[in-house]
Amino acid sequence: MPELPEVESTVRYLRDKILDSRIVGAEVHWARTIDRPAVRTFQRTLIGSRVSEVTRRGKFIVMKLTRTKKPDCFLLGHLRMSGSMDVIRSTSPLAKHDRVVLRLQNGKDLRFNDPRKFGRFYLVEELTEITGKLGYEPLDAALTETVFFQHMRSKRGILKSLLLDQTFLAGVGNIYADECLWKAGLHPRRTADSVTEEEASLLLRELRATLLEAIDSKGTDAGDGVVEEGLYEPRAYARDGEPCLKCSTVMQRMVVGQRGTHFCPRCQPLRRSRIQRKRPK
Ligand SMILES: [Zn+2]
Repeated sequence: MPELPEVESTVRYLRDKILDSRIVGAEVHWARTIDRPAVRTFQRTLIGSRVSEVTRRGKFIVMKLTRTKKPDCFLLGHLRMSGSMDVIRSTSPLAKHDRVVLRLQNGKDLRFNDPRKFGRFYLVEELTEITGKLGYEPLDAALTETVFFQHMRSKRGILKSLLLDQTFLAGVGNIYADECLWKAGLHPRRTADSVTEEEASLLLRELRATLLEAIDSKGTDAGDGVVEEGLYEPRAYARDGEPCLKCSTVMQRMVVGQRGTHFCPRCQPLRRSRIQRKRPK
């Protein structure tokens, strides 16, 4: 499942390929891919608009569309489990799982392929309609170590689940959560309010370093099995049964908040903080 680095790689690819392109056609081959508005309105609004910005917010691809004599609008794409975007010549035959095809004036298509059909497009005039509840961008300078720590201390619940909570941090998913917890030596089941200021700072630094390294490598495809050469290769995620790269202890897998979680029992001990109290559920 694509996370921040994979989405960022897609955004950079699209920016390079479709910035300033005009959309001249919009085909929808799977209606439910369009979350809003209705498919016909979606098509009518897109045609004639120009892609004036391609950015990312959390795991959303955000395309700003400029229209003549009409307000700007935003086309957001979420890849979910298996979505991918490609820009290819319009004359190329359609692939099996192409769900949406945007025809561009330059003779190319933006094609959204999505075998599992969970991916979504949202076309809105107000960006916050979709992104309003998202939390901090992990790479945003506004998220200082102090802000991160205070924000974390105010939360209840399990550290791993909190990292995955998009209203807390936007863009982190299962792979990079496991990676930064392992690097920071924090047990995934620690409670958020037991994390010390020092631990929180280290976690944020490791998270950022991991995301930046992964963006440089154009993300990972670890979720799909073997990692293709050149992509980010996880040190913790999906390495259960293999020796920890720091201490050689056998890595383990457990389920935290219904998500498969990979950790080193030696590097990531579950300590109970003295000030941690049992909270009623
Ligand atoms: Zn270890």
